[in-house]
Amino acid sequence: RDYAGDWSSDVCSSDLKNKRAIITGGAGGIGSETAKLFLQEGAQVALVDLDQVALDEAAEMLSEYGKVVTIAADVSDEADVERYVQEVKNELGGIDVFFNNAGIEGTVAPLTEQKVEDFDKVMAVNVRGMFLGLKHVMKAMEGAGGSIINTSSVAGLSAGPGLAPYVASKHAVVGLTRNASAEGAGQGIRVNSVHPAPVNTRMMRSIEKGSNPQNAEAAKEEYESHVPLGRYGEPEDVARLVLFLASDEASFITGAQYVVDGGMTT
Ligand code: NAD
Repeated sequence: RDYAGDWSSDVCSSDLKNKRAIITGGAGGIGSETAKLFLQEGAQVALVDLDQVALDEAAEMLSEYGKVVTIAADVSDEADVERYVQEVKNELGGIDVFFNNAGIEGTVAPLTEQKVEDFDKVMAVNVRGMFLGLKHVMKAMEGAGGSIINTSSVAGLSAGPGLAPYVASKHAVVGLTRNASAEGAGQGIRVNSVHPAPVNTRMMRSIEKGSNPQNAEAAKEEYESHVPLGRYGEPEDVARLVLFLASDEASFITGAQYVVDGGMTT
């Protein structure tokens, strides 16, 4: 019997042809690289980000791969979230894929010196923002199904000294992912989380500087020494995993945590 036939391209496909995708934090390093891959795979893409200037730059950078819808919105504000979901429904006709990815790193300091305001800010974006995205996008996907990928981190699975609020927020993403997957399964909505090690984006430049203001390069070497494969991830390393989880190839995968970490959590 020829089992290979079960995996023919019409049964199982990694492309996103005709899929409509939202990416939050879409102007950032990981978000914009994922947008590029999604466009190359045939998706229609809407980028959501706080920063309109960065959104315009991302749209310009992506223009050779396709046209994107850009929406300036704060993921931690429910009215903004309702607005971006409605705008995407109006512009693209629905939502098949949601990359729930916006996040901030907070301040690098020992837990005993972290300020309450900084803790609250990280929680507002990384946890409330993630929750609000799930709440309104899952509602929009009801009846049609879809795939949601939440960005956690290796900091959602283990400690990250100096980053207590961030670590707490990224662990919370695991809980939200589990609940959303349990509640979404009956509607055909799959929900998974991705857990990158340090990735070469603005965020790591900020964490390196916070960790060693005199010598950020030394901080980078120290972080890299914790990765068995000996390097930071690149945004494309994460984007390829997100593409897989978004696609029909992952149609039996939900509620799962995927590391993309060069072996860091082994
Ligand atoms: P980045 O700073 O390049 O991108 C983050 C984007 O989110 C920015 O464009 C920013 O404007 C946007 N954003 C921040 N607050 C927002 C808000 N309230 N509303 C809407 N948009 C907002 O960083 P990145 O590395 O691309 O990070 C993307 C995700 O990956 C984050 O959730 C981050 O925690 C996670 N992550 C990053 C790393 C890393 O090392 N870079 C590792 C693991 C996980």
